[in-house]
Amino acid sequence: MSQHLSDRIQSLPTSATLAMAAKARELKEQGKDIIGLSLGEPDFNTPEFIKDAAIKAVEDNYNSYSPVDGYGDLKEAVCLKFKRDNNLEYKPSQIVVSAGAKQSIANIAQVLLNPGDEVLLPAPYWVSYSAITILSEATYVEIPSSIETDFKITPEQLEAAITPKTKMIFFNSPNNPSGTIYTEKEYRALAAVLENYPDIFILSDEIYEHINYGEEVFSFAAIPSMYDRTITVNGVAKAFAMTGWRIGYIGAPEWIAKACTKMQGQITSGANCIAQRATITALEAPVSKIQYMVDEFQTRRDLVLSLLGEIEGFKLNVPKGAFYVFPDVSAFFGRTIKGSKIENASDFALLLLAEANVATVTGEAFGSPDCLRISYAASEENIRKAISRIKEVLS
Ligand code: GLU
Repeated sequence: MSQHLSDRIQSLPTSATLAMAAKARELKEQGKDIIGLSLGEPDFNTPEFIKDAAIKAVEDNYNSYSPVDGYGDLKEAVCLKFKRDNNLEYKPSQIVVSAGAKQSIANIAQVLLNPGDEVLLPAPYWVSYSAITILSEATYVEIPSSIETDFKITPEQLEAAITPKTKMIFFNSPNNPSGTIYTEKEYRALAAVLENYPDIFILSDEIYEHINYGEEVFSFAAIPSMYDRTITVNGVAKAFAMTGWRIGYIGAPEWIAKACTKMQGQITSGANCIAQRATITALEAPVSKIQYMVDEFQTRRDLVLSLLGEIEGFKLNVPKGAFYVFPDVSAFFGRTIKGSKIENASDFALLLLAEANVATVTGEAFGSPDCLRISYAASEENIRKAISRIKEVLS
């Protein structure tokens, strides 16, 4: 019967990150000792002070629809956060709160893209950018990078990728899946190219901003010539261990914010009211309150790099943020390991799942077919166990 499904859903790829997580869960339920290094999800509990705020919101009877674009005092808190952390001036009328940054991004695509428009995706890019673009009937154009250039694109590459159809670029730093962070100078060099193309919009996804290891994190909208055409996307999922609470938000030109509000008014009526109340408390807290998680991620990153460094064939760089390593595993292509011929990164990820019981995500889903994403948002014990199993399978 599935032929009755719309062309739209049939042309939409399944999210590779969520699919791998589901597969790992399924195998675990069957009794297999799977270690999940596929999902980008902090393994910490949401901090107590945020949980307390949610409990208070329940007790205070926050049970009705919130304004579609979010509570007024939450939007004020978002403005203060943008000012404090990013030196960005937004008014509450420029803020829209959504059910996760993913919805924020989907809103933007829906309100700005027309069939035939082109979206530039510096690769590697998060799996849902391409899918969300397809859903908007636009097409995406990859701008490749590799581990040799620290997974960064150059202004020359950007210039070469632009066509009269280019409508938007999705930019993500710190990057999922590579952990790469662009410097302010690099942002400015890319902006200098975009200055010549005033009709191109920038979606700047800054969801990993706080998960950085001592780097300066910059925002596209902080460049005055970019401000009027940049949509800054952020949320509380990664920094505050609140993935399941589903709160994301944007700062954008008012006309775009209004259109996003109209869109989600027809689709979700806005985000969960309890989670919104708790988000006010999260955003008002000093960033130092979550530093313990960032420190722990850094320790784990170093551990993963040192353990993977002992396995021949993994080409590594040092990610500066997020909680992923993204090694180039092309040295394994063409080999037969445990009876399986490894032709590409997907075969390699499947081999690790079947033989090492370790779930990762193929780089193909992120537009980098030579690489493999390993999330270290997992306990040190599991990281050690997983990599030692991988080593055994590959030796
Ligand atoms: N963003 C996370 C990841 O890349 C969560 C899963 C998803 O939404 O893709 O793993």
